[in-house]
Parts: sequence; structure tokens; C-alpha cells
Amino acid sequence: MIDQNGHPPVRVLIVDDTPEDRVAYKRLLQGAQRAIAAIEFEIIEADSATEGLEKVRTWAPDCVLLDYRLPDMTGIEFLGELASQAGHGGLAVVMLTGQGDEMVARDAMKCGAQDYLVKGQLTGEALQESIYNAVEMCSLRRMVERQRRQLERSNRELERYARVVAHDLEAPLKAIRQGLSGLQKRAGDRLDEESASFVVEALETADRMGTLIRDILAYSRASAQAAPFAPVDTNKVIETAIANLKSTIESTESVIEADHLPQVMGDENQLLQLFQNLIGNAIKYRDNARTPEIRIAAEPEGEERWRFAVIDNGMGIDPAHAERIFEPFIRLHPASEIEGTGVGLAICHTVVERHGGQIWVESRPGEGSAFYFTVRAAKKVEDLVGGAATRS
Ligand code: ADP
Repeated sequence: MIDQNGHPPVRVLIVDDTPEDRVAYKRLLQGAQRAIAAIEFEIIEADSATEGLEKVRTWAPDCVLLDYRLPDMTGIEFLGELASQAGHGGLAVVMLTGQGDEMVARDAMKCGAQDYLVKGQLTGEALQESIYNAVEMCSLRRMVERQRRQLERSNRELERYARVVAHDLEAPLKAIRQGLSGLQKRAGDRLDEESASFVVEALETADRMGTLIRDILAYSRASAQAAPFAPVDTNKVIETAIANLKSTIESTESVIEADHLPQVMGDENQLLQLFQNLIGNAIKYRDNARTPEIRIAAEPEGEERWRFAVIDNGMGIDPAHAERIFEPFIRLHPASEIEGTGVGLAICHTVVERHGGQIWVESRPGEGSAFYFTVRAAKKVEDLVGGAATRS
């Protein structure tokens, strides 16, 4: 970042094929009219795009002052070349256009230029300020990018750490369970009532801990897994999820109705986990006063995505908690009432995020919840054919 208190001069490369224009820009940058008193400019010139690109490589400027109309390349082509040069994609560029070229200049900004100025109306202050701001903006962007990468790295390390710890806890927990079961078998009859209930409670706690460890491992796997995306038929995914939940569906007499669903781009195993968690929750958080009814539907979201919905008639969720429930370990029900670890929706969130989509819930307490998520379509969204199929 530029330090305004007299630190390194801003290195500007002027790329323009008209010598008089280059002299004029130099004068405007180095003249007495100062936008920021402490900033000095070090300037070199190039009279063609090819020479300009070469000097970007060899001289490493902070900013390129670029004439939009060059004999060998347009400004947009120059920006394309720049973006493809390793390490120079984030270089600050201020475009200089003629009167009437503003439209193309705006396009150039979409391609990576930070600003544009119209040649005939230049003042020293405007030019210096534009270059200074462009350099600042690029340097801030690089800093944000560095921090994002650092954050990603430390998140990955944390996930790895959680995975290792969870994994390492599995063996001692197994030993504790075996010890307690052994005690129950051998000394069961000799234990007084209170001691026997201590053992039962300890075993139940060990079971809950086992579930928690399994869920943590599943959660860290959801973030770490990176199977390549392929077209996935979500009808098949739903069928598998329903087959996996068969005994719960039967024991609760749940009715599941699914529309004919589309193909999406994704990781089939993760999508199965996503649907299974949502359907499983729709049953788990049912309202005991009525038969659980769950509907799965999909609607186009623009041309490239589908928005899926898993809708239940269960107990519902207070809207105040609608966002928190996607964080790991957040539960709205104590484990003593309804079993769980609060990891299921966090896995759903991670899976949807990995698929470049969003997940959210809309709910009315006492009436039911609708969980929505978006995911990329396998091909352009076409009209769905076929009606609803009821499965129970
Ligand atoms: P768990 O089910 O293990 O608690 P989840 O992450 O799947 O973990 O869910 C987090 C919380 O969100 C649950 O404890 C529950 O309070 C609430 N919840 C999730 N799904 C539903 C649903 N379909 N209806 C009502 N509440 C739900």
C-alpha cells in the first residue's frame, strides 16, 4: 500500500502511441499541481501495447495509464493479455479514452480497469487522484485476497484438527463402552439399584458421545470431500434417501410426496446426505398431533439453477432462530427431549455452499417448515414434465 508520508514513488507506465500525449501526461503527473502532496510519480513510457506488456513484465509498475486506442491492440485486448500474465492480473489500470468512447471505457472497467478518464478534459489533480485511487484499490484487493486465502487455510487446518481429535477419541470411547458393558454383564445382579442406574446412564452418555464424534467426522468430511461434480438425477437421490430412512418413515407413518425432480450438477453422495438430513429432520421434528406429511419440490431459479424445497407440517421453527440453526452444534431442543447433536443442518449448509448455492428456512411455529436450497442445473432449466409421486 502507498504510504502518503513520503514513501516509495508510484511507478506509472504510460502506454500511448502519441508522443505529445505522453509528454502531456508526464507533465500532469510531475507538475506543480498536486492532488496529494507527498506522492511522487516515477514514470516510464511505451508507444505500443506489445511494448507496454513487455514493460509490465520487466519493470513491474504500480499502475498502467493506458490509451484505449492503440495501433496493435484495443484497451480491452490489453486487459485480457494482462489478466493472463501470471502475477499481473491485479495490476491497477487507468484507461484514457477519447470523447465519445465512454461506453467502451465502461466495458473496459468490467474487464479489470479501475477507472477511465476522458483525454480532452484532463487536469493534473484528476489524473494523479485517479492513479492513486486505482493503486490503493488494487492493493486493498490483494490484501483482502491474501487474508481470504489465509482464512481458508486456517479453516482447513481447524477442520483437520477436529477430524483428528474426533478420530482419536473413538478408540478410548470404545474401550469405555466395553468396560461398562462388561461390568453390567458380570456384576449386573450384584449391583444395587442406584449403581446399576449409574452404569446405564454412563452407557447412554457414551452412546451420545459416539454419535457426536460420528457427526463431527461427517461434518469435517463434508467440508474436506472434493469429488468432482457430475450430472445427478435428484429423483434417484430421493429414492435412496427414502430407502435409507425406511424404518423411521414406517414407524412414524410419514407420507412423503415428491414432484418429478430435475438433474443437477453436483456430488451425488453429498446431495444424498443433504436430502436425507432434511427429510430426516422433517420427520424428527414432527408434530405428534398429526401424520407427518413431507413434500419435496423444485422450481427453476433463473436459467441456470434449481430451487429445491423440503416442506413439512411439523412443529416449525421460531423465525428468530432461522439462521442460527445452520451453525454447528446449535439445537433448539434439548437432547433429553429429542436426540441430536446440532450438526445435521451445518452439514447441509456446507454441502450447499460447496455446490455454490444457498440454503434457508421459512417456517411458522406450530404449522411446519419449508427448507429451501439452490443448486446448479445440469443443463439449462427446461420445463418439468410429470406429476407428483406419493411415497410413504
Ligand atoms: P439436530 O437435529 O441434531 O439437532 P440439526 O442441525 O439437523 O441438528 O438441526 C438443528 C436444529 O434445528 C434442531 O435441533 C431443531 O431444533 C431445528 N430443526 C431442524 N430441522 C427442523 C424441522 N424440519 N422442523 C423444526 N425444527 C427443525
